[in-house]
Amino acid sequence: MLENDFLCTNIEKDIRSEVKEFVNTIDPELIRKMDKNEIDYPFEFIREAGRRNLLGLRFSEKYGGRALPWTAECIALEEIGVLGMGLGCSYAMPSIVGEALSKFGKEWQREEFLKPVIKGEKLSAEGLTEPRGGSDFFGTTTTAEKKGNKWVLNGMKRFIAGGKVADFYLIYARTDKNAPGHKALSLFIVERDMGVEVEELFNLLGFKGMGTARIVFKNLEVPDENMVGNLNDGGKIFNHMMVPERLTSAAGAIGTARVALELAMKYSDRRKAFGSKIREFQGVNFKVANCLSKLDAARGLVYMAAKAADASEKDPMVDPRRLVSEAKQFATDTGWEIVNDAMQIIGGIGYTQVYPIERLLRDMRLAPIWTGSNEIMKMLVQHEAYKMLGLPIKDRDIEKDALDWYKDSEKVFE
Ligand SMILES: Cc1cc2nc3c(=O)[nH]c(=O)nc-3n(C[C@H](O)[C@H](O)[C@H](O)COP(=O)(O)OP(=O)(O)OC[C@H]3O[C@@H](n4cnc5c(N)ncnc54)[C@H](O)[C@@H]3O)c2cc1C
Repeated sequence: MLENDFLCTNIEKDIRSEVKEFVNTIDPELIRKMDKNEIDYPFEFIREAGRRNLLGLRFSEKYGGRALPWTAECIALEEIGVLGMGLGCSYAMPSIVGEALSKFGKEWQREEFLKPVIKGEKLSAEGLTEPRGGSDFFGTTTTAEKKGNKWVLNGMKRFIAGGKVADFYLIYARTDKNAPGHKALSLFIVERDMGVEVEELFNLLGFKGMGTARIVFKNLEVPDENMVGNLNDGGKIFNHMMVPERLTSAAGAIGTARVALELAMKYSDRRKAFGSKIREFQGVNFKVANCLSKLDAARGLVYMAAKAADASEKDPMVDPRRLVSEAKQFATDTGWEIVNDAMQIIGGIGYTQVYPIERLLRDMRLAPIWTGSNEIMKMLVQHEAYKMLGLPIKDRDIEKDALDWYKDSEKVFE
């Protein structure tokens, strides 16, 4: 109802319709079962998305993708976001893991892992966060030591979505003890049956039914050929993977916030207080108006970041990271505000399980925390922007527009 498609190309409009059709086939019982933690992972959902050729949309047709732009993928992610964040994450994972495999993987790795992931036949997960912290990624303490033609991994990763069930994981490990983090990490494809141990399955506030686990490697041997990219390329690969990591979070949050707002609007059009529909009260309808503006602003920013990501594929001078970080921070903070306001509009019954708003709220609380917390996003955004201040610019120097512009003796900085 609240999508704005007039900026979209026909390809983007078509993908929205196609994904909507898929979303409409999803049995509500799957969502309810996930929320009760009755299943380990939405296996059948991913298999069906794969059968419909809806996974990894932007990857090359050679590997089963559709070579679509990021803008189309973001629209697909928005529509899947309607189902909540667990299914959204399972849908996004091929895009995140696929980024590393398609850009840095060896040909056999793409055949063996990327293709079946896009078909929905293999489940993947990514292991960045450790119990010691997720924000300080380059402080990774999981180690990989070379022994003959194998790497021996020791360490653990925390909060791994799909950790309990994935067929394989992309794991960052320290391969140089002395270099600074961004030059010391390498990325490995670690298959579950190589000896990954699941030591903790988390009881989460929301985002249930995704087998989110702490996984442990104890002298786990990985063949040398399973390294993705070159030795100590982890930092470079991480920077690329963070584009899908953050854009998928941002676009998914738009869909989740959108349905929460739609639910609240429908409710406010029926619920009465003091003899009037509650939507007649300014306290309610101004909240709706604010949420609509915020939703559209967030979608606009996500769309612009997606355009930047598309442009960067053709022009290496375009760096989408600032816009992608802005989009992640703004869409997820805004998403949280919208779901929260939607619950306020629905009132007490919204706080029960009669309506799904409480599940959407529990889900959405995760969005500002994960895939790089929003504090880390702000750190990156200002850092990238300040870097640009140093670049030569042709813009007007507005300092001279001040009446007393020439009084240099008054321009004191320290
Ligand atoms: C349900 C769930 C699923 C997840 N799935 C995955 C997954 O599949 N794979 C994976 O690798 N990770 C996953 N994560 C991990 C997630 O990305 C991290 O939780 C997140 O990056 C934050 O790391 P942390 O929890 O260790 O918090 P910390 O890094 O300990 O941060 C704690 C707080 O301090 C703030 N902070 C830290 N450093 C700074 C700074 N320099 N400036 C300002 N503030 C700062 C943070 O913003 C945060 O508010 C998942 C997490 C959850 C909860």
